[in-house]
Amino acid sequence: MILIVDDKPENIFSLKQLLDLNGFETDTALSGEEALVKILKTTYSLIILDVQMPGMDGFEVAETISGYSRSKDIPIIFLSAVNTDKKFIARGYASGGIDYVTKPVDADILMLKVKTFHRLYEQKLELIKIQRELKSEIEFRKQAEAKKDEFISIASHELKTPLTSIKGYVYLLDRTIGNSDANGRKYIERTKTQIEKLNNLITDLLDVSKIESGKIEFNYKHFRFNDLLTNTVEIIRQTNEGCTINVSNNTDIDIYGDEMRIEQVLINYFTNAIKYSPESNEIYVTCQLTPDNDLKVSVKDFGIGIDEQKQRQVFQKYFRAEDTSYQFQGLGIGLYICSEILERHNGKYGVQSEPGKGSTFYFTLPLASEQKH
Ligand code: ADP
Repeated sequence: MILIVDDKPENIFSLKQLLDLNGFETDTALSGEEALVKILKTTYSLIILDVQMPGMDGFEVAETISGYSRSKDIPIIFLSAVNTDKKFIARGYASGGIDYVTKPVDADILMLKVKTFHRLYEQKLELIKIQRELKSEIEFRKQAEAKKDEFISIASHELKTPLTSIKGYVYLLDRTIGNSDANGRKYIERTKTQIEKLNNLITDLLDVSKIESGKIEFNYKHFRFNDLLTNTVEIIRQTNEGCTINVSNNTDIDIYGDEMRIEQVLINYFTNAIKYSPESNEIYVTCQLTPDNDLKVSVKDFGIGIDEQKQRQVFQKYFRAEDTSYQFQGLGIGLYICSEILERHNGKYGVQSEPGKGSTFYFTLPLASEQKH
């Protein structure tokens, strides 16, 4: 709605008619004081304000409005018979006005201005609405996210207890059966493999909740990186028959860190390289020293690869490339845990990849001799 403020009823009448004819809703005030009372109660899209009025003049009204938070952004068109002087025009702008029309009013010009301001005001309202909706959407997602983390924390703790019992009973059964029943042994071995997978999933979920609550702990000590790498490669070879892991390593260094957690990173990189390479069974592992004297470990596969935009997201919590997620099992938390472990060791990480050709995941760790501890 547009507010017309003029002390002369005949001026109000003609302006009102013009605006009504052009489809605008209008309201009127015969003095600055009356206008201020109305502005406090109603939100207008535009104010057409006569400058010369007895009592409060148009500039004073505009100055007062600019102090009201709810109406300070309403555009104002000043109407004046005399103050065409530059300094008066400038005064109009300084007091929050947006345009200035001199009397006698040219109806076409006035309507052009009114339509432009009205449209701008509507667009502004629309933007404010969108901004509000976006804010509440972000807030909602942040809560939703907190609830998800809380649920994961509770669920993984609850799952861990019965799983530990199942594991115990399967090992008892294993001993009871001994070598007497070949089929029984086969099924027990398969059960153990599945229990191990379930255990790893739950451990990862527990790690995520520990990271979120800031309770993940690291047991730092010195260790030989090559011994860790050799053992880890051996574990992967044993559990992934037919997979060839080529290691190229001419480093021989000490790392100061949590050996188990660095092993977790290596296992994650290796198992991903195998999992996401359904048509290849070769991995290349390279260890080298960077110009900054850090250890850099790269794990190269010849698998499905990752799109360039997604390469930046793979280390984010719960990220899974949606085009391939139905084909490969996972929770999208392994690399997130790796990133946290590496950051806590002052390491860096990343990936280079070409879709259809393969990926190289890498990480760096400072040498023990370079660490401040
Ligand atoms: P998960 O494998 O359980 O989904 P990760 O956090 O280990 O979770 O990996 C996140 C995502 O990154 C995967 O879902 C996959 O889309 C992508 N990804 C990880 N490693 C590779 C890889 N070697 N080749 C192709 N894509 C990969």
